[in-house]
Amino acid sequence: MRIFKNEEKLSPEYVPSRLPHREEELNLLITFFSTHIYGKKGYSVRVLITGPVGAGKTALSKLFGAKAEEIASHAGVNLRYIHINCKIHTTLFSLLKRVVDALRSPIPGRGLSNEELLHSLMNYLENKRQTLILGLDEVDGLIREEPEALYLLSRISEERDAVPRLSLLMISRNVEVLNILDESTRNLLQNNVLYLSEYNADQLRDIIEYRCSEAFIEGVVTPEVLSLIVDMAAERGDARYAIEVLWRAGKFAENEGVDKVSPEHVRKAAASVYPAIKRENLAHISHHERLILLATTRLLMNGAKSHITSSELYSTYKVACEEYSTFPRGYTRFWEYLQRLEDIGFIRIRVLSEGIRGRRSYITLPEIPASILNRELKALLEKRKE
Ligand code: ADP
Ligand code: MG
Repeated sequence: MRIFKNEEKLSPEYVPSRLPHREEELNLLITFFSTHIYGKKGYSVRVLITGPVGAGKTALSKLFGAKAEEIASHAGVNLRYIHINCKIHTTLFSLLKRVVDALRSPIPGRGLSNEELLHSLMNYLENKRQTLILGLDEVDGLIREEPEALYLLSRISEERDAVPRLSLLMISRNVEVLNILDESTRNLLQNNVLYLSEYNADQLRDIIEYRCSEAFIEGVVTPEVLSLIVDMAAERGDARYAIEVLWRAGKFAENEGVDKVSPEHVRKAAASVYPAIKRENLAHISHHERLILLATTRLLMNGAKSHITSSELYSTYKVACEEYSTFPRGYTRFWEYLQRLEDIGFIRIRVLSEGIRGRRSYITLPEIPASILNRELKALLEKRKE
């Protein structure tokens, strides 16, 4: 029995040709970069996309890149978009090497300093009259490893007299990344932040329906099954989770040789995607992650609060560090731990807007009572003390 029409269309690398409920954002990006796309004189552009996991940040930027190249080419403009994952390319040098390779330019990488490499790249672009939009995904990775990298990248166009040839599209899961940047870069960005909020249930339904129609043979995924996946994913507002469950449910059906995906396949799929927190997961997280979790449980146990702010948590974490004679990590590192804890499923980070001044991150424990987790953590931390 065939289940999939085209399974690859559910793979994480695949970028769909349209993104329902992100059309406005796509147009906004095109507007932000329009001087480049239409080959007009202008400034170097910097835009930041933020939003929670599975909000479509990566897909949106890649689709934007493809559209920007397409429009530019119709207008006779030489424009390239290159998408780089800064979790992998954490240094400016590695990032620039990747750009040079992607452009197939003859610039030798070896023996050049960062700045020389950057200037060679700019010479190359100027000679070819080519404009480059760099998509820096998971940009926190680069900022942490080499804080001055973004500064160099954003200043280079101004240092040269020529038409600006390099613009940046930065992508980050958290808005706090702005706080790490220096004042002037931050000011530049202020007006160009695109926040993607979590998808609601209706939006997820449209998204899943569309992705189903691309990947599955018609009729394999019933409306009932679709609703079940929507319900599960709506709690997180996370399209990645929805698509992962969808694909795995399809695999379970395929393996059983049946001709339809059943609700039971979906439940099995969901159980295998993000398993519920188990004691053994606690054993695998680092000392600092345990201290952060401990601080979270303390804040959530005390009051009737459902959410806490990241700055509140950071102070409480520092207190916990002192109790366990540990030197606290800096704020950036703290954020990374938070993200890992979210990836494993211990905590949830929500970003809520608070007027014009911006947005704040709130942390909560979605699945386990704070008191139980607190007890488990204390036992583990005490053990280490002995
Ligand atoms: P993020 O980078 O914000 O974590 P992704 O861009 O990786 O999220 O999106 C997660 C998954 O959901 C990807 O497979 C992506 O193709 C899909 N997706 C996200 N938004 C949409 C949408 N609006 N329409 C269709 N698929 C989407
Ligand atoms: Mg992403």
